[in-house]
Order: sequence, then C-alpha cells, then structure tokens
Amino acid sequence: MTVLDLHLLGSPVLREESKPVVAVDDEVRRFVADLFETMHAAHGVGLAANQVGVARRIAVVETDDKRLVLINPRIVEASGKETGEEGCLSIPDIYADVTRPDRVVLEALDEGGNRYREELVGLAARAVQHEIDHLDGILFLDHLSMLKRKRLMGRWKKEHADDPGFIKAIKPDTAESL
Ligand SMILES: [Zn+2]
Repeated sequence: MTVLDLHLLGSPVLREESKPVVAVDDEVRRFVADLFETMHAAHGVGLAANQVGVARRIAVVETDDKRLVLINPRIVEASGKETGEEGCLSIPDIYADVTRPDRVVLEALDEGGNRYREELVGLAARAVQHEIDHLDGILFLDHLSMLKRKRLMGRWKKEHADDPGFIKAIKPDTAESL
C-alpha cells in the first residue's frame, strides 16, 4: 500500500466531475487500499479519489462504527437537517459549519463490485455527502454563504501564498479531518 500525495485547494482536479468506474478490478482494489492508507496517515474520516489527483468515482469513509468503500456512490434518500463543523484534507486548517441532511440512504459498489444500500446517520452520513460532493467537483466551502466563503478563501490564500504548488505529501502525524 502507498500513501498518496494530497491535492489542495487550487488544484484543478478538485473541480472535475469524476468518471464512473466501469469494472471493479484488482487495480481499483489496490487504489481503494491506498485511499484508506492515505486517509489514515492524514487522520481523516473520508477521502475521495480526486483529492489524490484521480478523477474517478471512488471514495472511502471510516468513522468509529462504519468502514465504507464508495465506488460509483449515490444518495438515494435524504431527510432531516443538521448543522455541524466540517473541514477538508484538501483545505487544511479551514473549518466551517455546514448544514446537510442528517439521514441518508447510500447506494454504492463495494471493493468486491457488489452493490449495497446502507442507511447512515450522524458523522457517517455527513462524511459520505462530503465525499460524494468531491466526486462532483464540489467543496464544503460551496455550501456556505458567499460572504463567508469569500472570507475563508481570503484567509486560505493569505496563509498559503508561499506554497510551491497544489500538492502536499502526507507526513504521518499531521492532524486533520474529512
Ligand atoms: Zn474534503
């Protein structure tokens, strides 16, 4: 397994619409294992393929009680509303409250290529919605008011003005989130 480099805000692949997976083969399974490895190294609870520069509809989520492989995922039902703080491994150190449905039914393929449906609540529901957004080129900042988004983006640009590029190598023990 390999810890992959993370793409940060500004990298064009984060705004790409990811392509569906045609066949769940060994190459896809290896990539899923790499996503888990990278997510663990970065202390995240979720990671989408385009966050490591690959525009395919693959993501992983792991919370205390759920370990989910999301291949070609979609939300087939959503209800309720909850506001909670979110962050993103691709936008380090920026956090904001985001309102989303608090219960969703997820449909996806697992690493065996089997279709499954699962009802999720709480953090797992939030994380899955955040990751599927990534696959559609959407970032959590897009859910905020224009004013709030501008303020946070301004802060991001200031703090990252000296960055050499949009790619970050994960060193084990950098604490971050989604
Ligand atoms: Zn994210």
